[in-house]
Amino acid sequence: DVTRFLSSGAVPGSPTSTSAFSAASQADWAAKRLVWVPSEKQGFESASIREERGDEVEVELTDSQRRLTLSREEVQRMNPPRFSKVEDMADLTCLNEASVLHNLRERYYSGLIYTYSGLFCVVVNPYKNLPIYTESIVEMYRGKKRHEMPPHIYAISEAAYRSMLQDREDQSILCTGESGAGKTENTKKVIQYLAHVASSHKGNQPSLAISLKGELERQLLQANPILEAFGNAKTVKNDNSSRFGKFIRINFDVAGYIVGANIETYLLEKSRATRQAKDERTFHVFYQLLCGASEETRGEQEANEYRFLSGGSIPVPGQSDSENFTQTMDSMAIMGFNPEELLSMLKVISAVLQFGNISFMKEKNQDQASMPDNTAAQKLCHLLGINVLEFTRAILTPRIKVGREYVQKAQTKEQADFAVEALAKATYERLFRWLVHRINRALDRRQRQGASFIGILDIAGFEIFQLNSFEQLCINYTNEKLQQLFNHTMFILEQEEYQREGIEWNFIDFGLDLQPCIDLIERPAHPPGVLALLDEECWFPRATDRSFVEKLSAEQGSHPKFFKSKQPRGEADFSIIHYAGKVDYKADDWLVKNMDPLNDNVASLLHQSSDHFVSELWKEVDRIVGLDQVSSGENSGPLPFGAAGLKTKKGMFRTVGQLYKESLTKLMATLRNTNPNFLRCIIPNHEKRAGKLSPHLVLDQLRCNGVLEGIRICRQGFPNRIPFQEFRQRYEILTPNAIPRTFMDGKQASELMISALELDHNLFRVGQSKVFFRAGVLAHLEEERDLKI
Ligand code: ADP
Ligand code: MG
Repeated sequence: DVTRFLSSGAVPGSPTSTSAFSAASQADWAAKRLVWVPSEKQGFESASIREERGDEVEVELTDSQRRLTLSREEVQRMNPPRFSKVEDMADLTCLNEASVLHNLRERYYSGLIYTYSGLFCVVVNPYKNLPIYTESIVEMYRGKKRHEMPPHIYAISEAAYRSMLQDREDQSILCTGESGAGKTENTKKVIQYLAHVASSHKGNQPSLAISLKGELERQLLQANPILEAFGNAKTVKNDNSSRFGKFIRINFDVAGYIVGANIETYLLEKSRATRQAKDERTFHVFYQLLCGASEETRGEQEANEYRFLSGGSIPVPGQSDSENFTQTMDSMAIMGFNPEELLSMLKVISAVLQFGNISFMKEKNQDQASMPDNTAAQKLCHLLGINVLEFTRAILTPRIKVGREYVQKAQTKEQADFAVEALAKATYERLFRWLVHRINRALDRRQRQGASFIGILDIAGFEIFQLNSFEQLCINYTNEKLQQLFNHTMFILEQEEYQREGIEWNFIDFGLDLQPCIDLIERPAHPPGVLALLDEECWFPRATDRSFVEKLSAEQGSHPKFFKSKQPRGEADFSIIHYAGKVDYKADDWLVKNMDPLNDNVASLLHQSSDHFVSELWKEVDRIVGLDQVSSGENSGPLPFGAAGLKTKKGMFRTVGQLYKESLTKLMATLRNTNPNFLRCIIPNHEKRAGKLSPHLVLDQLRCNGVLEGIRICRQGFPNRIPFQEFRQRYEILTPNAIPRTFMDGKQASELMISALELDHNLFRVGQSKVFFRAGVLAHLEEERDLKI
């Protein structure tokens, strides 16, 4: 029976009706005064209060019967059993970390991976296939309201879809979480759901719907496998890790049928094309090409003969690269790629590998590099349709502008190596961009304008590694913005609910809390933030990563969210207090990463390639900052910055930071005009194992992704809301003579009951249809109720 994977048996949305716990355990809970206390192994464990002495509490652990004395703050109250496995954690009366963890864990072990927490939907990666994504389940969710069905990504998708149709408001579904948490899998389920319920070409029998889907829906479903082949890779954390962020926008007409789609991608980790950490792979498509393509297509070399495949051929458990090659090719065919395009793409992928096999030597008694063996260069140039002699010259002795004149300038081995690697990365990045563009061309049916859209964002959550680089800064900056959007949305919705119910309350916009950190990163001037200073430094003569750190510390040293590193060249260069916690950044290579310089001599050769596809890839060469922009000054490292001739290019050239900030600004503007739905994905353990939930790992994520903070904010208001009738039904037993038997008005009855309960006014509010309570009040009423039953 699949429904046990959806629901614990409780009537959805109603904590009162949870049947999983017997009356006995309810009695237990009240008699034993159960609480949660911190535990190394379990996160928190159950205990009962024995004695309370001032700020101290003596408890007895339930499992071991050991007694402990703890301070009052360390002890968290346990919810009454009727709240067991609640579907919305905002309904919990004891709103604390321990109860949130307990609830998620109980549900997870029962196969219930989705749980709401107010505006959030939390999902814990099950690491096994649950029977909850079938077409019959899709049908079950179709047309239902969120509270009518157990929590599910389909419920979120359905709510977004209905709200789009009814309110004519664009929607977004924002999936975040750490790598391996399930963002991409859930994104695919949203698309699967929408392709199913919103297809304009349906068979009469629902079971045939997939096969009878229209071409557009079929193509939409192929977009992910294609993007994954080129943009995903095996990492230590995830065998199919997305190495880019994406925003998929599905357009609908007024009748709710899909009329087109569009994909925006962010920050492809292009460095993976040339280097991989131990036990990690480059993008799947490289292995697919090597294992799946005919020898004629791929050439005769094996995986271990390519320097850019550091680990040779590492297999992915349960995956066949050669079968996946066929699938990728099939997907691209469905998408409408023609055979010439496919071949051209494969040639460019081979070329990226060939770049890695070019090697340089240092000329005797000279700094100058040479290329004694040009076999790889020949293969490369053949694949890319350029002349090998011209290529070699462009690499070894490029023409560089010095003052007003161009001169041929010999390159060192380090410079040549750097140039080749940068070209390989740029080639792959351009191929990826072309691919996304090509998919968009196939999915974008301009002849039918969409009336509204649902956008799905699949992007990495906050990253806090031991040391963090420019990439982490960009992703953490994004998450600050997304969290701000969340906090602001929550604020607006709460405010609306309170107003609707006519309740007085002073609102605080917690979105404002994030502004200082956002300013620290994005502020253009007075004082400039991190990105602006980095840009400035990139144009500064003889600047280095060090001089950037010094300027940043000088400008932002007193910013409340900024910390200068204590030791001058210690582990971290500076730290930023992000929403999710303090993050230590190391500024090594930030100037190079931000400028992303490229040998523009080779770039123009590629632009003029005899191969139409290659020249198309390289048609935008004006955005390239050439090697002449980077001088070989007296500084250490292959590429110190600052040179003549910058002013001319500065106008049109945009740094990586600038481009990213622009695309993020655009994304945020889009999202702000949508009704956002937030999905927080949680990785349960780092061993990719089913059925195991590491409590501290989960708590860390709940802290980072704002779920715990959201609950803290909830507690400032009146988080528990009970409709009048339900309130009377459950608690009238506490006030036997307060209301005349025949009395029916819900509001007055509730008011009479409340006054009989003699509750402090600060603990409740009576609205138009519900009673609102502070956290914990219901636990108290439950205790009283137990004594009566
Ligand atoms: P992310 O995109 O957050 O890095 P993925 O969505 O790629 O993570 O998920 C990582 C892996 O976890 C998947 O390849 C799959 O094996 C497993 N997984 C994630 N979500 C689910 C799910 N809902 N059901 C089954 N397996 C899942
Ligand atoms: Mg992913």
